[in-house]
Amino acid sequence: MAMSAQILDGKAVAAEIRAQIRAQVAAGLAAGGRAPGLAVILVGEHPASQVYVRNKRKACVEVGFLSEQHALPADTSQSDLEGLIDRLNEDPRIDGILVQLPLPGHLDAEAITERILPTKDVDGFHPYNLGRLALRMPLLRPCTPKGVMTLLGRTGADLAGLDAVIIGQSNIVGRPMALELLAARCTITVCHSRTRDLAGKVRGADVLVAAMGRARFVPGDWIKPGALVIDVGINRNPDGTLVGDLDYAACAERAAWITPVPGGVGPMTIACLLENTLQAAQLHGARPAGD
Ligand code: NAD
Repeated sequence: MAMSAQILDGKAVAAEIRAQIRAQVAAGLAAGGRAPGLAVILVGEHPASQVYVRNKRKACVEVGFLSEQHALPADTSQSDLEGLIDRLNEDPRIDGILVQLPLPGHLDAEAITERILPTKDVDGFHPYNLGRLALRMPLLRPCTPKGVMTLLGRTGADLAGLDAVIIGQSNIVGRPMALELLAARCTITVCHSRTRDLAGKVRGADVLVAAMGRARFVPGDWIKPGALVIDVGINRNPDGTLVGDLDYAACAERAAWITPVPGGVGPMTIACLLENTLQAAQLHGARPAGD
């Protein structure tokens, strides 16, 4: 059977968002404002983290943000890291502070996340920002679920009343994804490694978000015909290529809309980080144009 799903092209949508942000930053500077500033902290030499941090930095420079990187040794102490966050919290040039996870095991990641000023928490991981999202009064929203909502918006579908199934309950993807879809008035089911009859739950999904980190785990016959299907998973094949959590070709035969991997959710995450940093700058009074 031929593929029937329309492709949700995250790469193209992210490029549009970045171009809009670049224009807003330029207009803000022309009006005498300052550039939004993002500080990224990397502790140790985790190879994937180094790639993520490099990509974030490149994206910041492209849109005209001030981008500052703090590469700290793997044996950095909790108090030294907290001291750096305190200084960045006070720094008027810095609107966003991002601590690249995972942190080395001796560091308390929750305490570090809570140390960041909520208006500078551009990852949206601070309990204050997650609480705001839970209460339907979002401020800075976690980037990956926010990017998924932007992509779902591009389908033109009315989400209210749809049955949404999320596979994965992590603090950074699954949980905030559930809160986003609930706020959009979906009926939500959150599945995880202890869920019984995952196939049965997924088969009922009008909206499916797979965020489990298991390569090609979801087969095509689990997809409800006409569903909106989002693949957050990023898994590396032995040959180095990337695949998502879905058996993409088979799922695309039944879905109405589907995201590819790569080129779906991944580029949206960085675009949303830029959006959040611009929003934080507006909160801090940098007054880029359009405000
Ligand atoms: P995680 O390992 O913290 O969480 C995975 C979740 O999947 C858990 O809640 C677990 O219970 C659930 N799960 C695992 N196996 C399952 C099974 N067999 N049945 C049901 N549930 C199962 O991972 P995470 O940080 O949430 O990331 C998930 C995936 O998304 C990873 O592949 C990650 O690389 C990717 N990711 C992508 C982006 C992006 O920008 N596209 C951002 C963050 C994470």
